[in-house]
Amino acid sequence: MRTTSQGRLSRRDFARTAASGASAAWAAWTTVPESLRADATRAVGALRLATFRFDVTPPVGHALCGGWITSVVAVDDPLEANGVVLLGAGAPIVLCAVDWTGLLNVAHLHWRQALAEAAGTTPDRVALHVVHQHNAPFACLDTQRIVAAYPGLPHVIAPAFFAECLQRAHAAVSAAIPRARRITHVAGTSTRVDKIASNRRVARDAANQVVAMRGSATRDAALRAMPEGLIDPDAKTVAFYDGTERVAALHYYATHPMSYYGDGRVSSDFAGLARKRLQAADPTCAHLYFTGCAGNVTAGKYNDGSPAMREVLTGRLHEALAAGLTHLRPVPIAAVSWTSIDITPLANPFLDAAALARDIATPTNTIVNRNRPAFQLAWLERIASGLPIVISSLRVNDLGLLHLPAEAFVEYQLAAQAMVPGRLLATAAYGDGGPWYIPTAGEYECGGYEVSMAFSDRRIDPTLRDAIRRVLANA
Ligand SMILES: [Zn+2]
Repeated sequence: MRTTSQGRLSRRDFARTAASGASAAWAAWTTVPESLRADATRAVGALRLATFRFDVTPPVGHALCGGWITSVVAVDDPLEANGVVLLGAGAPIVLCAVDWTGLLNVAHLHWRQALAEAAGTTPDRVALHVVHQHNAPFACLDTQRIVAAYPGLPHVIAPAFFAECLQRAHAAVSAAIPRARRITHVAGTSTRVDKIASNRRVARDAANQVVAMRGSATRDAALRAMPEGLIDPDAKTVAFYDGTERVAALHYYATHPMSYYGDGRVSSDFAGLARKRLQAADPTCAHLYFTGCAGNVTAGKYNDGSPAMREVLTGRLHEALAAGLTHLRPVPIAAVSWTSIDITPLANPFLDAAALARDIATPTNTIVNRNRPAFQLAWLERIASGLPIVISSLRVNDLGLLHLPAEAFVEYQLAAQAMVPGRLLATAAYGDGGPWYIPTAGEYECGGYEVSMAFSDRRIDPTLRDAIRRVLANA
């Protein structure tokens, strides 16, 4: 398959790749070197920023969260993809946050290719993340292909709807580029958030084994009474300006974003609703929200799952983010750099392809115990295909944005922040969702749900930390 010297796909190649599987999709851009890709830090000339938004609300009847909870019955509030394209700092850079549960493996690659194609850049310069709401689509094309072979199984992602979303992505970015605004200033701030995030692995026995999970909604009074545990209590906001006029504000906070779910009523939930509230009050600025490393963080200590709590949590998050906006002090942009690196994690040894295939094919298994093994089998196929995970960082003056995959534990973003003392670092996780949970190496010993759903070998810990260190050192 033909690529340019920069590994960029032609439009025809993109269309062909979008219709094919993992191996072909990866083969399409193997001309991109696997080693670190770093821009020289550049003095800034004419920077511009294009903002885009498009609807990604699934239709009635579409599967939610992989097909093992109630499908779409109604829409409480629409799901959106929000993004920015930074122009003038080398090839364009795209940052995008999607109100979905997950974008995994080839589905994540195809979205990045669609955004890159429209922006005139390469997929390694697209940071694509989900917010991780659960009354929302959980998109893996490879998993979909596997479950489609069994008439008794619900779909995971409807291919026609997925293709429609890619077309909307392409159209939204294409329309945004000509309207890009001049960007001259940047600002960043960190704001304490009260009574939302709590660690979900606080209940341990004498041997440090996790004995109960504090889920997104926790009704058990004893679990709720336990301490918050390890979290990152601060939301971060990084904003771009044309002179004194704010053009885009990117918000980051590390928690699962669910108040309640499973009723078939699509919602962007409290994180999305807080962002929409900021957006409604500030229509000339694009507000984006990214979920940080929240694999082991939920609102469970403070949330009993009652419908009233959605509004309470929305209010708390909105209050913190709105306060952060008042603390922003824009300064002229002096330097911008982008760095990315590929990692290829290994499969967790407990994943056995033959056993997974048997689980998927067993009609007496519950749907979750058939569709979830399909996600695991898709992950094994993806590793075999050689498709890497891209870690990237954008640095603007002393402000850093870090882009990580999947359900990384909060320890990773705290470690990343500690690598750049004195600099504000805003971390988005829930990029390529293929690996599901990414515990720390030590937590692999402690059991619990997240460890049982970690698709990668524990060596992903040093691999990920090394990748973070390298992109932060170069960005
Ligand atoms: Zn999760």
